Amino acid sequence: MNKGYEVAVFHGDGIGPEIMAPTLEILRSLSERNAGYSLTFTDAPAGAAHYAATGESFPTTSLDIARGADAILLSAMGLPDVRYPDGTEISPQIDLRKQLGLFAGVRPVKVRPGQATPLALPDEREIDFVLIRESTEGLFYSQGTGEVSEYEARETLLITRDVSEKLFRFAFQLAQNRKTSGRGHGRVTCVDKANVFRAFAFFRSIFDAEAAQHPHLTADHAYVDATALWMVQKPWEFDVLVTENMFGDILSDLGAGLMGGLGLAPSADIGLDHAVFQPCHGSAPDIAGQGTANPFAMILSAAMMLEWLGVTHDNPALSSDGERLRETVETVTADGHNLTRDLGGTARTQEAAKAVMDALPA
Ligand code: ATP
Repeated sequence: MNKGYEVAVFHGDGIGPEIMAPTLEILRSLSERNAGYSLTFTDAPAGAAHYAATGESFPTTSLDIARGADAILLSAMGLPDVRYPDGTEISPQIDLRKQLGLFAGVRPVKVRPGQATPLALPDEREIDFVLIRESTEGLFYSQGTGEVSEYEARETLLITRDVSEKLFRFAFQLAQNRKTSGRGHGRVTCVDKANVFRAFAFFRSIFDAEAAQHPHLTADHAYVDATALWMVQKPWEFDVLVTENMFGDILSDLGAGLMGGLGLAPSADIGLDHAVFQPCHGSAPDIAGQGTANPFAMILSAAMMLEWLGVTHDNPALSSDGERLRETVETVTADGHNLTRDLGGTARTQEAAKAVMDALPA
């Protein structure tokens, strides 16, 4: 078994480097303590600040570093005041998704008993589901190429059989892994609007064909509007939800809201050969440089990276460190003593990250 893994690191913009630094410290410490694997990190310069300094937002050398790595860790990127001449924002993370075919946007939503949430959860109820957002087509397919005249505007939604098949295969595999590890009950819900749009009836028919291959898992459907309602009314019933790009974009922010905010929302963009791990939030220029950013979404994204590397390379040492790191962040969050300002606390970025480092079991 190969035990050395190369991680490409995009430090990001705004609060990006502030939350990446303590995350790398934690990963280095875990990797040094565990004989089952070792991580090496290579910086891949890119982003808005890099563009402002050099005129290049995403150098080819950085794309090559990402392509050659075993995993890609990416912090928040983009700055509202730094744009291309046509006014669009700099977002190498979107270029990466397209270039590397990262079709599955994975957004876990987890709220442990005791953790602050805007919902009044019944006693001991826990929220633990994963939203998978298709990330390369759907309503985002026509991004930047929509047709607008004085009288009307058109955008095209694209659903392809090829990407949908890969997406649903991934969703059922994830549900199987969660069931095997005791985290989920083995249920995949296709979230669509098949009662109104033919494209979603097509999406659903491909889902049903994949579901037939997994008789030991439960497969069902939900309309996107009802899903938004149920995410608030009975979120503990979900396990794995899989949906189109725009629906997933909206529902994942609702999921972050259930967790108490963007500062706790990690994500992964996964394809057949590559994966990027990054927090859901942006570069938060309003608080950049103050040392008050919440590092937990970044650290949780790093934990997802370890778990994914572990599963992909059949390396249990990586999987168990990923799980330990995730559980430690969840414990520190539920405990409530080292929370940053966005979660109602007074801890600074370094203090919140140190609380995680100190609480990690030896
Ligand atoms: P983008 O469009 O790039 O995703 P956005 O417009 O959604 O960005 P964010 O940069 O995510 O905006 O910030 C939204 C709000 O959440 C801001 O007030 C920001 O300060 C806050 N915020 C985001 N991430 C964090 C964090 N890690 N810690 C503390 N506050 C955060």
